[in-house]
Amino acid sequence: MSIRFAVTLDPLHIGAGGYRLGRVDNTIVRDAGSGLPKVPGSSLAGVARSYLVQVLEGEERKKAMACVSSSGADKGNCGRCMACRLFGYAATGERAKSHIGLFRFYDGNIIAFPVSTIAGPVWVTSPAALAQVLPEKDVPVLNEDTLLVDWNLAGKKLNAGWLYLDAKSAGDALKPLRDMLGEEVSKRFSRLALAPDRLFAELVNSNLEVRTSVSIDPLTGAAAQGKLFTYEAIPSATLLAFEVGLDEARCRTAATADAEAPVNTAEAYELLDKALSLCGVLGMGGMCTRGFGRVRFLGGK
Ligand SMILES: [Zn+2]
Repeated sequence: MSIRFAVTLDPLHIGAGGYRLGRVDNTIVRDAGSGLPKVPGSSLAGVARSYLVQVLEGEERKKAMACVSSSGADKGNCGRCMACRLFGYAATGERAKSHIGLFRFYDGNIIAFPVSTIAGPVWVTSPAALAQVLPEKDVPVLNEDTLLVDWNLAGKKLNAGWLYLDAKSAGDALKPLRDMLGEEVSKRFSRLALAPDRLFAELVNSNLEVRTSVSIDPLTGAAAQGKLFTYEAIPSATLLAFEVGLDEARCRTAATADAEAPVNTAEAYELLDKALSLCGVLGMGGMCTRGFGRVRFLGGK
């Protein structure tokens, strides 16, 4: 199992499928228990598979291109190309066997969320958010309604969005996260604040990006009647983490539709990271053609 950190370069909209919430017409996917927005593992698997074709080379690229451009029942489902082998393929009329993917994609969670404060932008995290990526011994405990900040804050209070809270020094509480991110990545999140879990979902949900769009009537060039809609998104500069697993036992005995052919696990992860790097250019999720969706993956841990 390994963790992929990622940062949103644009707002990210992974739609919940028409579910309406308050003033927002198009809501994003949330975790049922915590109420926090998340990025479903299925969304990541989908973009990784489709971008993989573009990062393959030589014979593998030819096979993968033939797979996606086939016109028969095996379109995108040939059972021989690297995309089918890593992400799975289904039985077709001629082929009795199906094969599940070798990768496992889990839902991506918000680890640090940008909030506007009087001290400038601050990335807020919480013990439960950190527990998704840190070993249990490194997860800080915070039982009071206080923000723990990891920079030298002059005052004793800080606002985070509309909440106004006592602030104290975090000491070394946020160091394990910074160490895990590494110096280069850590610098992007210059100010971290640890908030209690019960306030974290509130802080995130009240600081999501909400946009309004309208369809234009092509005849008049003006807004079409009744076509105004609102949608929400995870804002840019949010730190996300995804867990990805690779079924190593099955990699050793992996079969194509024709023959046994083991998959090299290091090569599989390398291909995955190359494919995910295209999310920083082509994006993922909804509204990708309208300034949304680019996500920069920051490598594996
Ligand atoms: Zn294929």
